[in-house]
This record gives sequence, C-alpha cells and structure tokens, in this order.
Amino acid sequence: MDTFPTKYIFVTGGVTSSLGKGIISASLGKLLQARGYSVTIQKFDPYINIDPGTLNPYEHGECFVTDDGAETDLDLGHYERFLNTPTSQANNVTTGRVYQSVIEKERKGDYLGKTVQVVPHITDEIKNRFRTLAKSGNYQFVITEIGGTVGDIESLPYIEAVRQMKWEYGKDCIDIHLTLLPYLNTTGELKTKPTQHSVKSLLEYGVQPDILVCRTICHIDEDIRQKLARFCNVATEAVIEAMDAKTIYEVPLLMEKEKLDVVVLKKLGLPAESTPDLSSWTGFLEHLRNPKHRIRIALVGKYVELRDSYKSIAESFVHAGAANETQVDIEWIHSEDVNPETAGKLFQGIRGIVVAPGFGKRGIEGKITAIKHARENNIPFLGICLGMQCAVIEFARNVLGFTDAHSTEVNPATTHPVIDLQEAQKRITRMGGTMRLGAYPCVLKEGTRIHSIYKKTEVSERHRHRYEFNNEYLSVFEKAGMKATGLHPEAGLVEIVELKDHPWFIGVQFHPEYKSTVANPHPLFLDFVKAALEYKLGSEAAKKSISKN
Ligand code: GLN
Repeated sequence: MDTFPTKYIFVTGGVTSSLGKGIISASLGKLLQARGYSVTIQKFDPYINIDPGTLNPYEHGECFVTDDGAETDLDLGHYERFLNTPTSQANNVTTGRVYQSVIEKERKGDYLGKTVQVVPHITDEIKNRFRTLAKSGNYQFVITEIGGTVGDIESLPYIEAVRQMKWEYGKDCIDIHLTLLPYLNTTGELKTKPTQHSVKSLLEYGVQPDILVCRTICHIDEDIRQKLARFCNVATEAVIEAMDAKTIYEVPLLMEKEKLDVVVLKKLGLPAESTPDLSSWTGFLEHLRNPKHRIRIALVGKYVELRDSYKSIAESFVHAGAANETQVDIEWIHSEDVNPETAGKLFQGIRGIVVAPGFGKRGIEGKITAIKHARENNIPFLGICLGMQCAVIEFARNVLGFTDAHSTEVNPATTHPVIDLQEAQKRITRMGGTMRLGAYPCVLKEGTRIHSIYKKTEVSERHRHRYEFNNEYLSVFEKAGMKATGLHPEAGLVEIVELKDHPWFIGVQFHPEYKSTVANPHPLFLDFVKAALEYKLGSEAAKKSISKN
C-alpha cells in the first residue's frame, strides 16, 4: 500500500438536519476500507454538553459507549457497525469539551497573557482534535462528520476550522456537503434552490464544498446535476445522488454506483482504477433481503416512542437476523403499557422478549411484569443492563418470595436491596462520566448456556451503569435456580445471570449491542434469534399436532 499524507474528509450538512451524515460518512468509509485503505470516522458535535452521557434519550437518541468508556453520539455506533473497527474517546468531540480544555489551559497560564478568543484559540483546539487520530499513524483517511447544519450559530467555529484545514492541507483535504433536494408534488419536480442557498452560506464562511451528496426521493437527471454543478462550483461528476434506501446497509452500494469513492480519490490525488471488494457486505445484504423465516421480538422499554433510543439493539437484530436468514420484526412495547392484565395480549405471537436498558422508576413495574411473562411461559428472554436488574428483582419477588425486593435506584428503603450501589459509587455526586463505563473483562462458567454461546471462558463487554447485583443474595438465588454464569474476575461482580429451568433466559449487566457489527454479529443476539426461531417453529409444530388429533 502506498504511503501518503493523511487525507482529511469533512462531511457538512445543509438545508435540514437528519439527512444521514453519519450513514454517508460510514458508507464512504466502508468503500475506502473495501479498497484496502485504513479509515477512521469521527464526529464533532456543536452542543455545549461535554458528552451526550447526561442527555435524555428523547433529546438525542441512544448514548453509544466505546471500549475506553466514552459516552458518545449514536453515529459512532454506525461507524463501528460499518467499519468493524472500534472507536474511542477521540472519535467524538463536543463544543463543551473544546471549551473545557481551552479554559483549563487558560487557567494554567498556557496562553502567556494573550486574550483567549474563538479564533484562533477555539479553532486551534478544534483543529488539533481533527488531527488527533491522524497522529496515531494508524489511518490513511480521517473522515470527520460535523454535527448540525451549516448556518447554525453554534457550528460556526467548526466551519471556520474546516476552512483553515482546507487552506493548510490543500489537496489532502476535501469537504463533502450533504444536502436535500425537496420534491414538489404539485409541479412534479426536484428543487435545487435550498442547496444553492446552503452552498452560498458555506461560501460566505470561506468553504467551497468539493462534492455535493444530494438526498432525494427520486432520481436526479443530467439537467439537475448540471444546474447544481453550475451554481455551486462543483464538477458535474461531483454531484452525487443519494436516494432513500430500504435499509441503511444498502447505502454503501448506492454510493459505489454513484462513484462517490472514485470522485473522492480523484479529488485527493489518489488512483481510483481498482474497485472496492464488497463481497462479504453484499453477502450480508443478500441474506437480509431474502429471509427464509420471520419472527416477532418484543422490545420493552420506556423510550420506545423514539426508536433511536435503542438504535444499537435494533441494529444488532438486523445483523443476527441476516445471519439466521430470519427477518426480525421488532414490536416496540412501552413498559408503562405492560401489566398483568395486558401482558397476555401484548405478547401474543411474540417469540422473544428483550427488556431494554434504562434509568429511573418510570415503567419499571411493566418491565418486571414482562419478565415474569417470559419466565412463566418459557419465552426466550434477554435482559440488558436495567433489563438484567429487573430479571433479578422479578426472581426475588416471585420465586424467592421477597415481595418488596427492588433496586435501591428505585426504592432506597427496600428490605431486599437485590440490586445496589457499590461502595465506591456511593461517594459519587457528579453525574457526568461517573458510571461504570467501557470495556470490562468477564469470566464465563463452563458448562453454562452463556459459555456455549461465546465458546470461550473470558470475554470483554462494554458497561454503562452504577448499580450491581448484590452479592449478599448470590447463594439464595443460585439455590433457587438463577445462576451467576459470568463474573468480573477480580471484583466478583455478577455480569450475567441465567435461569436453569428455562429454554433461554439470560440477563447481562453489560451492553452486547455496542459490539455487534455487520462483519461480526454479536453471539448473544445470534443465539437469541436462533432460540426465538426454534420457539416459533416448536409452537407451530405443537399447534399442528393438536389440530391433527
Ligand atoms: N439504571 C441502572 C444502573 O445505573 C441501569 C443502567 C442501564 O440500563 N444502562 O445501574
């Protein structure tokens, strides 16, 4: 592989938010990676929070967690799922973090009496952070997604930093502008004016985009390409159509067809003769498009109105479904809707129940009821983080007879605190970045279901929680049939629980969903889907034999 200076690709957004900059960045990353290049993708978010860890999921969707314990934007999940390479703290930077380090430097006296200003101090800090991953020497391409939309007050310093980068790095730096071509029903045409305006705003800040990626609901013809090229100073071949796709996983192929990667390579002065090797990606898509089976899985959570809150779980089911040649339809069930009267109806025809992660009291009784339903009716069950904690509470109440058992997060006065804070957590008063975060090792007991799923004795999984299984109760639980089958090797913390007398009932204190990728679907999701499918086929066979008799 040729060596060349790191190439910087910025992805800015125009016209509206939510156009899918993350997916376009991940798709371009995939195409470059499939040509043999090393690529990383990072996201710069213009809001003031230090990280999205303290944000309510309704505000910002899921908080994605990296191995090194960074609480990050959910787009990092897409980067990992597409590229199959881990991201880190350096891959997500916010205005809060930029200002925090500039202010810390100012307090230390690092600016030697100078007036500290947005330009150059904030923009220098942004530029340094643009370059952090390049400095590692591990990447030939650094793709940087700039959050928000051009013209937002808060994104100005970032656009200014992009202008300076383009000036400093010349041919090694380009800007891709993702924009929207609205379709007018009344006249039956696509309109280019909002894009022209958006590019004008960029130009006012001194940034000439090199490539336009245009979101559209119908094909853009040659006339429109030429018009956009003329008004926005880009080559016609640099006007890329981005049609709405059936799944996000088709976008790399759509971008390949539009030659986004070829245009990018040419702009960056690199050869573009070879073609990307996407054989395993297309193999995955093949399975995804042609499932042999179909199952319904219930996802019980309190943020189900905003499905982005559970993005990584939903995507893990896409990966595991494709590998099992099964279409997994998620039934989004609001935990506040589940109670002993509604459970039977809500879970009719459901082949697996997942109880989602979460915080606080709202909806917790519904989660516990859903778990009771799964346990008593032998429905495959996966509890993730709070979902695992609820499985412990349910077992304590309904099997062990500790009627007021609870997590001290919800009921500090419970007489049976089966889920409780560790001593170290009790002293913590600040909310941001203080949970048990990131990758921790977990040792699996041999001869258990979990061991047969992972096929190894030590795994590493990512965490994001404060509360833990209370080990004072461990032996009572184990005697009654709920086994701790995965433990933190030194601290002895219970990371996995399993029910002995159930076809598939597993609760995990960690988040397996953060590690599932297209290339490596997570073994827990793979096996859960398999169990749900077996449960479906078993129920159907039983029904048939009853109707025959
Ligand atoms: N609220 C629980 C805790 O902090 C679970 C967190 C989660 O589900 N991510 O321990």
